[in-house]
Amino acid sequence: MIEVVLKKGKEKAVLHRHPWVFSGAIEKVKGKPANGDVVKLIDAKGVFMAYGFYNDQSRVALRLLEWDETVEINEQWFKDKVAVAVESRSEVLVDGVTNTCRLIFSESDYLPGLIVDKYADHLAVQVLTSGIEKMMPCIIDELNRILKPESIFDKSDATSRGHEGLQTQNIVLAGTHPPDRVEVIENGIKYNINIAEGQKSGFYCDQRDNRKIVAAHAKGKKVLDCFSYTGGFTLNALQNQAAAVMSVDSSALAVETLKENVLLNGFDAGKVTTVTSDVNKQLRKLREDGGLFDIVVLDPPKYAPSRSALDKASRAYKDLNRLGMLLLNKGGLLATYSCSGAMNMETFKQVLAWAALDAGKQVQFINQLCQPEDHPVRSSFPEGEYLKGLLCRVY
Ligand code: SAH
Repeated sequence: MIEVVLKKGKEKAVLHRHPWVFSGAIEKVKGKPANGDVVKLIDAKGVFMAYGFYNDQSRVALRLLEWDETVEINEQWFKDKVAVAVESRSEVLVDGVTNTCRLIFSESDYLPGLIVDKYADHLAVQVLTSGIEKMMPCIIDELNRILKPESIFDKSDATSRGHEGLQTQNIVLAGTHPPDRVEVIENGIKYNINIAEGQKSGFYCDQRDNRKIVAAHAKGKKVLDCFSYTGGFTLNALQNQAAAVMSVDSSALAVETLKENVLLNGFDAGKVTTVTSDVNKQLRKLREDGGLFDIVVLDPPKYAPSRSALDKASRAYKDLNRLGMLLLNKGGLLATYSCSGAMNMETFKQVLAWAALDAGKQVQFINQLCQPEDHPVRSSFPEGEYLKGLLCRVY
């Protein structure tokens, strides 16, 4: 196996089992590994440190897999990791209640670059590293063996693949092409998912717990669901007898699907107003119109793709939240999220404090929210923590 020598002084992160080694931390490569090959990382004295995937196209030149030298990294190693990850979701999936979740979450499940989402009997897969791409035949075999899905569809994100020098691909990996509409159920609520055309891998299953937590406050309330996508927060609020919901999203396909989902669940479509618009525009319009809500949900896309974008993103989050606060009745609830990994909870609270000052409001944080258990955060890989939310009472 080809050996890669780590620069002296760069050992700490590896010893702490962080799975990334940046290209700048590498002293030399003894040989010419192909991208995606498993290599052996050694320290400057030649002592074994870990095995990992190699890629000279990526800033993360090594993605570490295993720290025990005696373990062989073969097909069975990958199959075992797949099986363990899938098994650990067995309590998230409950017959007749929830049949959609994330089965494999990349580094957090010890499989760097592999994401697998389950939508009833269909799987949507993202293959984001050249190492995982090489192992896909045995990973697909294992997924087929354990889950017997009707289809496995590649829904890889083009930008992330580009970082590893990989081409974009959206193809059927196994079984049939997934149908345009796959009906799933989450917390007892039904959704139509378009795996091939929808955003992300089709659905944002990372908000499953948060939808329920917010909806618990919705009975008899007027709710404004901003960045609604296909209706996650809207449908949960309706399930809990909200008086009225306004759902805002800039994607016409998302809003159409939301309307279908309202009917699919037999909810009263008369309670729902949909608006296909930029949220900032709509919030300003609502402010001019003078209407107020009891609950405002803000679940925007990632504003800070990296740490360098954090300042600009913080201002955007602040502005958005200021507008949201101004549309609340006294004592109303703001459920606000950031899915930017670069923003931690402390900074997010600070942003909310600034927004409150600007809006002339007082804010209590009544619940701190995060990603659900099928998006685990590995203690040695804090980067896996990305979704945070605050449930705020606003006076
Ligand atoms: N709350 C949703 C997930 C939101 S994902 C759920 O529970 O499923 C973010 C959403 O924001 C996407 O649907 C995207 O179409 C929408 N979006 C992105 N930028 C927007 C903008 N400026 N105005 C309105 N919607 C926007």
